[in-house]
Amino acid sequence: MSWADRISPAVKAIPPSGIRRFFDIVAEMKGVISLGVGEPDFITPWHIRESCVYGLQRGYTAYTSNYGLLELREEIARVTQKDCGVTYDPRKEILVTVGVSEALDLAMRAILSPGDEVLVPEPCYVSYKACVTLAGGVPVPVPTHIENEFRVTVDQLERLVTPRTKALLIGYPNNPTGAILTRSELAAIAAFAAKHDLIVISDEIYANLTYEGAHTCFSSLPGMRDRTILLNGFSKAYAMTGWRIGYAMSNPDFIGAMTKIHQFTMLCAPITAQVAAIEALRHGESNMQKMVSEYNCRRRLMLEGFREIGLECFEPKGAFYIFPSIAKTGLTSLEFAEQLLMAEKVALVPGDAFGESGQGYVRCSYASSAANLSEALERIGRFVKKLG
Ligand code: PLP
Repeated sequence: MSWADRISPAVKAIPPSGIRRFFDIVAEMKGVISLGVGEPDFITPWHIRESCVYGLQRGYTAYTSNYGLLELREEIARVTQKDCGVTYDPRKEILVTVGVSEALDLAMRAILSPGDEVLVPEPCYVSYKACVTLAGGVPVPVPTHIENEFRVTVDQLERLVTPRTKALLIGYPNNPTGAILTRSELAAIAAFAAKHDLIVISDEIYANLTYEGAHTCFSSLPGMRDRTILLNGFSKAYAMTGWRIGYAMSNPDFIGAMTKIHQFTMLCAPITAQVAAIEALRHGESNMQKMVSEYNCRRRLMLEGFREIGLECFEPKGAFYIFPSIAKTGLTSLEFAEQLLMAEKVALVPGDAFGESGQGYVRCSYASSAANLSEALERIGRFVKKLG
């Protein structure tokens, strides 16, 4: 028996990343403008970094409670109440995690039994389906399309729900499309979840990065608070990807179950990052708003740029991605991305990395300087023109 044969079937069941080879090439090339990564180009604001330095000076170097520092959970509860109008008890309904990534994994492992199905609208964040599979569940993709602004509808969900469906995993504002859902669309999904008695995992990591009106928090909808595992974090809105800090909020049973796994696998999120996160929530609002308004300018630049190039493009309403259609070039997403990289040294992510319904698109992150974005647009325009 080879070593490969001894790997767990759950891990084997996860398809290899289609873009790994592509980004291996990017890493070795010089002069590439990469709009590939989903990461703010800003450095974490200084007052947040300083609070961490000061925390270290004061000797904050130990483990915290498994749930996270109570002071941080109290701040999370305060901000969630202010922004979403939903109240969570910081003592038993909030868990601080190592990024939203860990929270997603814990949520799936806490609720799924082998074979349970999870509805996952796609294109979606690359980890969603993998987390379901690793937890023994079965991801059921729900394709969304540009004609409907990449919104998932109850009709689509009704067609795919079965007696084995346990949960629905949504992420709006959406990575990779930038789509959002309105309050009434979310209310229809809430009614669907209640009708089929589903748990809803709502990844709202981009909640603060919306450009047209306020974001609606899923757990603020009537009857949804206890049915929802609400996930949020600091990576995107506060430019804190490397700090690895996020949180989950739900009823005490779900949070208790997630904490059980977390305490045996992670113990706690790093105290340094927790101290910085308190500062972000207390005093980070104005810096965050500055970053959001900068993303908004870049969003417009990219939208106009792609439309001038002649690529159909849905106007993203949130996050920091734009998802133009490359269908008219006759190339697949991967062919387009590879040929663009070779010809013009611009790296984008092939849309099908986010699910089959992403075929025919590419994802560009506009979390990059306006100068980089303008240069990238020029190069993409030249490439598309040559294709004819
Ligand atoms: N959820 C979505 C939709 C994301 O796009 C990402 C990162 O790109 C994450 C979760 C992971 O975030 P974190 O850095 O908090 O683990």
